[in-house]
Amino acid sequence: APVLPFINEPLTDFGQTENQEAMQAALKSVREECGLEYPIVISGKAYETRQMLNSRCPFDREIIVGRVSSATPDLANEAIDAARRTFSTWSAIDADHRAEYVELIARGLQERRLELASWIIYESGKPWIDADADVAEAIDFCHYYAESMRQMDHSLEADLPGEENEYFYRPRGVAVIISPWNFPLAILTGMTVAAIVTGNTVVMKPAEQSPVIAAKLMEIIRATGIPDGVVNYVPGIGEEIGPDLVSSPDVDIVAFTGSREVGLEINQKAAESTPAHNSVKRVVAEMGGKNAIIIDDDADLDEAVHGVVESAFGYSGQKCSACSRVIVLQPIYEEFCSRLKAAVETLQLGPCDNPGTKIGPVIDQDAQEKIEHYLEIGQEESELLVGIEVPNKLKKMGCYVGPHVFCNVSTSDRIAREEIFGPVLAVIQARDFSEAIRFANDTDFALTGGVYSRSPVNLKRARTEFRVGNLYLNRPCTGALVFRQPFGGYRMSGIGTKAGGPDYLHEFLIPINITENT
Ligand code: NAP
Repeated sequence: APVLPFINEPLTDFGQTENQEAMQAALKSVREECGLEYPIVISGKAYETRQMLNSRCPFDREIIVGRVSSATPDLANEAIDAARRTFSTWSAIDADHRAEYVELIARGLQERRLELASWIIYESGKPWIDADADVAEAIDFCHYYAESMRQMDHSLEADLPGEENEYFYRPRGVAVIISPWNFPLAILTGMTVAAIVTGNTVVMKPAEQSPVIAAKLMEIIRATGIPDGVVNYVPGIGEEIGPDLVSSPDVDIVAFTGSREVGLEINQKAAESTPAHNSVKRVVAEMGGKNAIIIDDDADLDEAVHGVVESAFGYSGQKCSACSRVIVLQPIYEEFCSRLKAAVETLQLGPCDNPGTKIGPVIDQDAQEKIEHYLEIGQEESELLVGIEVPNKLKKMGCYVGPHVFCNVSTSDRIAREEIFGPVLAVIQARDFSEAIRFANDTDFALTGGVYSRSPVNLKRARTEFRVGNLYLNRPCTGALVFRQPFGGYRMSGIGTKAGGPDYLHEFLIPINITENT
């Protein structure tokens, strides 16, 4: 994998007038292109279906961002066949050449950066900086995996007199990529380019809430001149085409990012074997979280409050890494709660095409209803510390939920145990640091976690005792960067892989050893 200096793609500084104007112009032209239709693409051929996915803008439901053909199980199987047919030629292309294609994808993303951020704003309801970071991360994945592949592209030798040993990697075959809507470009790009740079061919199934951004990625992939059939774009409804994609005997690897429920179902389905199967499928599943930040009694509260607010309410809490529990030591509990309340009260909701908006809508009406249901549960189980009302004007236009904080939450409460995936934070009091760690670990998930403390002893304890895939000390628990914070959880948060890290490409490869008696 790449070593320093790996330079992450810089974020756009919207404080600069010229960047702000360029973004406004990009938003305007993307708005004019809303409502277009997009076909399925298999082996370079466009397929249109009668059933369409109508992608609506979360902050203005009147806007149809695009209408996308929705694949049937037959088309999903056709895409698998196309990927299978292309595998022998694609896998024979040398790794450096494959890496060049992936770098061309990065260049395409860079050239269309503000346009892509605008599509993300309209289709996923991200505030400007989050949309920009999504595109930057997609670019990072391309550069990182291209470079990683180059560095893995040599045989390890362990020769003895009379015996030559060679150890190297081969691609697995056909990869099905199933992605979520919350990082609609970054996660889809990351999983897809990891698969192709390692020599696999791909069936790409984006979330039904973000098929237009995926169509844009497909345009960029095709514009590199990559052979038809290496990546096949198959938008559709997960429940309808997922089972065929996941259980097909012609698929060798399923790379999934999404909820625990769907991840576990995929893991089970992929393990089923019939006489038609001739290999054991590899599953990469990155799933949800119920992430906690511990506030020690000596923490810098200015930093801690700021970090918790950012981690809990950035993108309306719709990040798998988002903080949804804050565990506060008893001596500072009251003070922390009152400062947190004051900070949350300043958060304003708004539409995401507005540069000033920090908190936008949630993704769709189903999500809104689910989160509102948890707000009722929270009221019954604990005490509402602060809840921001949604102004009527916004309520009429989009799927908004105001940030909510519940205090005096018990670790057995549902709002402390279930992934809500919205702007809802549970505050839990702990007697001492040991209890805080115990509470933090009292969940099935293990994705991110944070600690604000000035105590070197407690920070050291957290390193060994706080069971999460990504631990953040004295900083927010969101915003992992490729290479610097390889990202992923374990237990019910995932199988244990780290996207953007040195081991990730191994998931897509099979190690081979050849010995010759000389
Ligand atoms: P989701 O409902 O699990 O959907 C994820 C993908 O799975 C979508 O493409 C979905 O298609 C598809 N799918 C649904 N049912 C399927 C089935 N039976 N077989 C195969 N595929 C199926 O998750 P989401 O709502 O998009 O995303 C939010 C979740 O993702 C949260 O739990 C979050 O924590 C998690 N997440 C985790 C990470 C991580 O790195 N650990 C990163 C981001 C998000 P449809 O859209 O058509 O239903």
